[in-house]
Amino acid sequence: MTGPDPETKMQFLFALRSRGVTDPLVLEAMEEIDRGPFVRGIFAQRAYEDTPLPIACGQTISQPSVVGLMTQALQVSPRDTVLEVGTGSGYQAAILSKLARRVYTIDRHARLVREARALFEALHLPNVTSLVGDGSFGLPDQAPFDRIIVTAAAEDPPGPLLAQLKTGGIMVVPVGQSDTVQTLIRVRKTETGLDYDELRPVRFVPLLEGLGKET
Ligand code: SAM
Repeated sequence: MTGPDPETKMQFLFALRSRGVTDPLVLEAMEEIDRGPFVRGIFAQRAYEDTPLPIACGQTISQPSVVGLMTQALQVSPRDTVLEVGTGSGYQAAILSKLARRVYTIDRHARLVREARALFEALHLPNVTSLVGDGSFGLPDQAPFDRIIVTAAAEDPPGPLLAQLKTGGIMVVPVGQSDTVQTLIRVRKTETGLDYDELRPVRFVPLLEGLGKET
């Protein structure tokens, strides 16, 4: 894994900054984690463009600036345990691994989890645990979480995920009907309830029920 040439890397980081990713720790993590290995086949040559790209199982690796903005909105601290729902390529989880103590990531497609797990090993990211399952139900065995990030769109923030968020915790999730523009929201759990912030319009694949077919 050689990574991008310096000019390409500079343009990649410039695109992130110009789209609002300004948190130095998030930028550092995104500089450290090369997007190249997470994009395969004919799309590999477009890995450093600020665009979502197709991955296996009919899914997508998200646009880097959206990954950066979601990570920034999550306000991760080094002691945090984070749950990501929607492993996809593993790119978002790899970035979170540089910012958090422990990352659990879950996807309904076994093939995506297998491929992402191989990358976490190759990149020496031992604080990421990847699992196959329907992430709408969270991971009760590992709960509660300091931070939860959902990288597929739900009609509403799933109740089990809200229940598995610590008091003082933050969840970032795109909400809205699939196939339309959705809104990225941030939910903070306080002593007295839930505070919601609308962050920006986004477009994600839907959060689906059950396990995906092996492809
Ligand atoms: N975070 C990913 C990355 O860095 O490449 C991109 C995620 S992709 C936009 C959305 C992912 O959510 C897909 O891989 C899809 O299989 C997964 N997904 C959809 N519904 C799910 C569910 N109920 N539980 C777990 N994963 C789900």
